[in-house]
Amino acid sequence: MFEDKNTSKTPLENLGEFRLIDHLTRSVKLKNDSTILGIGDDAAILNYSENKTLVSTDLLIEGIHFDLSYMPLKHLGYKAVMVNLSDIYAMNGNASQITFSIGVSNRFTLEALEELYAGISLACKNYNVDLVGGDTTSSTSGLLISITALGTAIENRIVKRSGAKENDLLVVSGDLGAAYVGLQILEREKAVFKVNPNSQPDLNSYSYSIERQLKPEARKDVIELLEKLDIIPTSMIDISDGLSSEIFHLSKSSEVGFHIFEDKLPIDPEVNLICEEFKFNSTTAVLNGGEDYELLFTIAQKDFNKIKSHPLLTVIGHSVERKAGCQLITGLGHQIELTAQGWQSFKNEKS
Ligand code: ADP
Ligand code: MG
Repeated sequence: MFEDKNTSKTPLENLGEFRLIDHLTRSVKLKNDSTILGIGDDAAILNYSENKTLVSTDLLIEGIHFDLSYMPLKHLGYKAVMVNLSDIYAMNGNASQITFSIGVSNRFTLEALEELYAGISLACKNYNVDLVGGDTTSSTSGLLISITALGTAIENRIVKRSGAKENDLLVVSGDLGAAYVGLQILEREKAVFKVNPNSQPDLNSYSYSIERQLKPEARKDVIELLEKLDIIPTSMIDISDGLSSEIFHLSKSSEVGFHIFEDKLPIDPEVNLICEEFKFNSTTAVLNGGEDYELLFTIAQKDFNKIKSHPLLTVIGHSVERKAGCQLITGLGHQIELTAQGWQSFKNEKS
């Protein structure tokens, strides 16, 4: 899990910026017809014909958004791409290109950046996305990553955060809370490792949650499924900050309230076991933990039969009038007002 100290190390100053870019991007292959020209000129050339263009950007900073003591660089590259593609899918679009920019200190070696780019190119391959550019600069300390994802959508299929109507159904893909508890396990092992670097943790019984934290997948499959089921959600968002704050975003943009039902929340059994071990409430982990990168969307009631009993999709509640607010109905039937806590970058060193 922790960095392998035995690999060979080539200092970055041995290469210079241009050779470094060439080296890292030499194996990039373009796959999409919409990519006319990729890396190597002053700008990439793209052609989306009649479709609308979707653009989304993220900035990730070492020590704030990721911790390299338990995040292998290959996973970081993969995850950084996923986080961005997820935003394009959350508009009901298809991602087709990314740019990837890095600020890197001399603490990093060529081999380390090769690992980062191995993760990026695996993500591009799995999701049929082209890496078409970026920028490379030095930083005084740490690693900084900026990614822009580009994609397309047919105009009348684009789904925004606004658009939910009263009495729509609130649906979530996959399951929730695992990335958060996975992070708790990794933080715990990091603390143990500091005290005893020879410890060999047995993480088998946490593997699903750790994988959800280290190697999330963006839900392209859910977008494809919705198209197959002939459903256009009325509103949609991806879950990066925790269910609670995403519900608040939909509520604010769509001007509706929501009722969600605690006993409908999809939680993997492993997550429940870890919550017991840590003495957490699993509902809190789902509501306030983040980084699940599932899709949260509303659909009209008439579409219910199309998604009913689909294993990937769970109806967790419905929209109500705005002034009713956002309420969790507990297993015992109590109503609790949700708080838009989510994750706050400045408090919890994460966003
Ligand atoms: P400029 O001086 O015009 O910014 P650069 O020398 O920085 O050009 O970049 C040359 C080419 O390499 C451009 O196509 C740019 O998009 C690409 N590029 C630069 N850095 C990266 C990177 N970290 N990842 C991917 N492509 C990159
Ligand atoms: Mg440049």
